[in-house]
Amino acid sequence: LRIFNQHFRMVLAQTSHAEKSGDHAFMTAMPDYAIEVEGLTKLYKGANGEKLALDNVSLKIPRGSFFALLGPNGAGKSTFINILAGLVTKTSGTAKIWGYDIETQMRPARCSIGIVPQELNLDAFFSPRQAMELQAGLYGVPKSERRTDEILAALGLSDKADSYSRSLSGGMRRRLLVAKAMVHNPPVLVLDEPTAGVDIELRQQLWAYVKELNKAGVTIVLTTHYLEEAEELCDEIAIINKGNVIAHEDKRSLLRRIDHKTLVLTVKNDLNAVPDVLAPWGAELKAPNQIALNYRPSNTQMAEILNAIQGSGLAITDLSTEEGDLEDIFLMLTRDNDKARAGKAA
Ligand code: ADP
Repeated sequence: LRIFNQHFRMVLAQTSHAEKSGDHAFMTAMPDYAIEVEGLTKLYKGANGEKLALDNVSLKIPRGSFFALLGPNGAGKSTFINILAGLVTKTSGTAKIWGYDIETQMRPARCSIGIVPQELNLDAFFSPRQAMELQAGLYGVPKSERRTDEILAALGLSDKADSYSRSLSGGMRRRLLVAKAMVHNPPVLVLDEPTAGVDIELRQQLWAYVKELNKAGVTIVLTTHYLEEAEELCDEIAIINKGNVIAHEDKRSLLRRIDHKTLVLTVKNDLNAVPDVLAPWGAELKAPNQIALNYRPSNTQMAEILNAIQGSGLAITDLSTEEGDLEDIFLMLTRDNDKARAGKAA
C-alpha cells in the first residue's frame, strides 16, 4: 500500500505541476472522468433470438470516486464491465477509460483499468507469485517495474506467495484476483461482485484495502448485490435496470429520495388488532405488543400521529423510528421503471 500511495502521490504531484505549467500531455493523463460512456448499446444475437442487454447507456464516472453500479440480475452490469474489459464487443456507442477510447486507443484504455472478475478463474497449478508474474508479462510491465512482492504483501498473501493457488482458501483466492488486477498499477479498479461468498472478516479486510487504494487516488467501481455495502462504501451510485441507467446520483441525494419512515410503538398490554384511530397510517401489528405505523415524512405532521396515539388510549412503553435505506430506493426505482416499461409496451 505504501508503494501504491507513493506512486499515486507522484502522479498527482506531476499533474498539479502540469496543471500549473499548462503541460497538456499530463492533463490528458488525468481526465475528469475515469470512465465515460456515451450511448453504449449491446445487442446479443444468438440461436435463441436477440437480447438488448444495454440500451443506449450514458454514464460518467468521476476520477477518484468510489462508485457503485447496482442493478438486479440480468440488468446489464456484467455486460457493461465486460465491454470495458474488452471481453464483449459493443454494438454501438462509445466508451472511454481514463480518456482513452476502448476501440481506437485500445492499448492505453486496457492499461488504465484493472478488473477483478466475479468467478475465481485462477490456474490451480500456479503459485500466486507465478500468477502475478504472468499477468505482469501480459500487460508488458518491465521486470524492473514489477512489484509482485509488495502487492502480495499488501493483500496479506506473502506467506502463500509460492504455494499452489489450489491450496488457497476462497478469501485468499479472491484477494489474489485483486492483486492480479493491480499488477499494471491501473488508475481505475473495477470489482464485479467481489464479496459474493466471502466471509465477513475477509470482506472487511478487502474493503479496508480497497478504501486505502481509493484514498491514494484509485477510482473504484463496484458492482454488488449487497446494498448495505454500496451504502457504506460508495460516494456515487448508478442504478441500472433492464439495460437502462434509471438513477445516477450522489449517494446522499439518492438516500434523501426516501420518503418513508416507520414508527414502532411498544405497548404495555398485548393486542388482537390495531385501534381504528391509527388506521390512516397503515398501522399493523408487528408483534402482539408492537404496532408499526408507516408514514411519509414529506406530507405528515408528526403532531397528528401523536394525537391519534394519545386518542387511542394505549399504554405506550417504548417508541422508535425506522428509516428507509438504499434497498427501499432500489426497489422503488426498479419497480417504477418496470411499471413504466410495461405501460409503454401496452
Ligand atoms: P447482470 O450482470 O446485471 O446480471 P448481464 O450483463 O449478465 O446482467 O446480462 C444482461 C442481459 O443480457 C441478461 O438478460 C442476460 O441474459 C443477457 N446476456 C448476457 N450475456 C449474454 C450472452 N452471451 N448471450 C446472450 N444473452 C446474454
